[in-house]
Amino acid sequence: MEMKVGCDQLIDILNHIGGKEVQGIDENWILNYAPSTGKVISRIPKSSYQDVENAVKAAKNASEGWAKLSKDERADWLDKIADCLESRFDEIASLESLDTGKPIRISRAVDATRSVTNFRFYAQQIRELKIEHFRMENATNHVIKRPVGVGALITPWNLPLYLLSWKVAPAIGMGNTVICKPSELTPMTANLLMQVIKDAGLPDGVVNLIHGTGIEAGSPLVSHPDVRFVSFTGGTETGSVVGRDAAASFKKISLELGGKNATIVLDDCDIDRHIDSIVRASFLNQGQVCLCGSRILIQEAIYEIFKTKFVDSVNRLKIGDPSDENTDLGSLISPQHLEKVTSYVNLAIEEGGTILTGGISPEIGAEFEGGNWITPTVVDGLSPDSRCSTEEIFGPLVTLHPFKNDEDAIRISNGTRYGLAGSIWTNDSSRGENIAKQMDTGMVWINTWLHRDLRVPFGGVKDSGLGREGGKWSLGFYSEATNICIMDE
Ligand code: NDP
Repeated sequence: MEMKVGCDQLIDILNHIGGKEVQGIDENWILNYAPSTGKVISRIPKSSYQDVENAVKAAKNASEGWAKLSKDERADWLDKIADCLESRFDEIASLESLDTGKPIRISRAVDATRSVTNFRFYAQQIRELKIEHFRMENATNHVIKRPVGVGALITPWNLPLYLLSWKVAPAIGMGNTVICKPSELTPMTANLLMQVIKDAGLPDGVVNLIHGTGIEAGSPLVSHPDVRFVSFTGGTETGSVVGRDAAASFKKISLELGGKNATIVLDDCDIDRHIDSIVRASFLNQGQVCLCGSRILIQEAIYEIFKTKFVDSVNRLKIGDPSDENTDLGSLISPQHLEKVTSYVNLAIEEGGTILTGGISPEIGAEFEGGNWITPTVVDGLSPDSRCSTEEIFGPLVTLHPFKNDEDAIRISNGTRYGLAGSIWTNDSSRGENIAKQMDTGMVWINTWLHRDLRVPFGGVKDSGLGREGGKWSLGFYSEATNICIMDE
């Protein structure tokens, strides 16, 4: 296949180990493509066990000195990283848009903004962290939080720096040192973060980064005996392998996995008021957000009117050039992912569904011919227990399902192996809350979606994960609670 280079010059992105940029030991490379054009934009080391070994060694060497700092000193470092990241805000937004194919407007408002906020937020959380005391009749317990040690932070391609910074900030803030392994499909902003960390002057080895595949770089990292915790965000199947590998040596593990989230539209919903938010919940980042609502359950009485308004709104979404400020939807991440989403469009038809809109390759100009494009797709007529309606597609395809009453909505909503998030749209928030309490999910929004307070727990139930991150839950995960009981004199 002809290799088309998408930048003036092919960028070599290197591993970052112990404060140095280094090539992979085997000197093998993986090409990185811009998803919107299919052109090569950079290449990364195809790291293997020896690179992992070196990165873990560097993290271990930095461990003692870093853990000795006070929490306030570490919080100051997080703020400094936030300032340096903020000074490169526009660069983060354009690199993320180039590397993922998402619209620049989204990478600015979501990715760049949140990456900076994550560091500032955890700086504040760590400053406010208090030792807990439990008084007994004749003794006092002091619960302190100590660093766990060296950790592995493994992230997916959909929100690259957003999710990496969500892990790096609390992990190092609590006194650990880390090795990051971003998705091989989106290495650009992880590299930028390492440059920022170097420029900020963080001690060498506190944050290390290796590139490469999950099998060759991720797996030896998870299994490494000196890695004491693993924070993983990615697919459920990979999470199961990571969980198994980490459990063998009793590492702390946090798993943020896949979802098949239900959007429940009750018959008292003000459709005109909420339709844009429901469309956003369906298709933000081309539906490649773990929280996206990919099954829309609509109460029978308003099914037809909702369907018409929803399809009209979806048809107004502008798909195309990710660098255009007016673009709503960009490309999918890879040809393999496009193939997967397309296979579900075909499956929807096989399963008896009707494609109301989308499911085709859009016409958006020669420059984007080599990209991974599909129009936002809406399907109705499928059984709620069909494969299309229960398996995670992680793309711009939603299915519509009528339901009779609240019990029926809860039953359908709980009818998958996943349990990450959901949303309910109603004029009666107490009715909404009653339904929310019976949904098997980690998070439910009522009359809003992806409205995030970083202090609240984030995570899923069933096959959507293990544990919670966010606020004090992250501080708990990235630390070991030690109780010191002192007898009165
Ligand atoms: P994957 O599970 O394919 O990959 C996630 C990361 O794990 C990548 O860095 C990958 O490397 C690495 N990896 C793969 N195999 C192993 C292994 N054996 N050991 C260690 N690491 C490994 O997920 P995707 O990148 O395709 O991301 C999409 C998925 O992420 C969706 O299922 C989505 O729902 C989920 N997700 C969940 C979120 C949540 O908070 N619950 C948030 C965002 C996404 P590489 O790809 O380079 O081979």
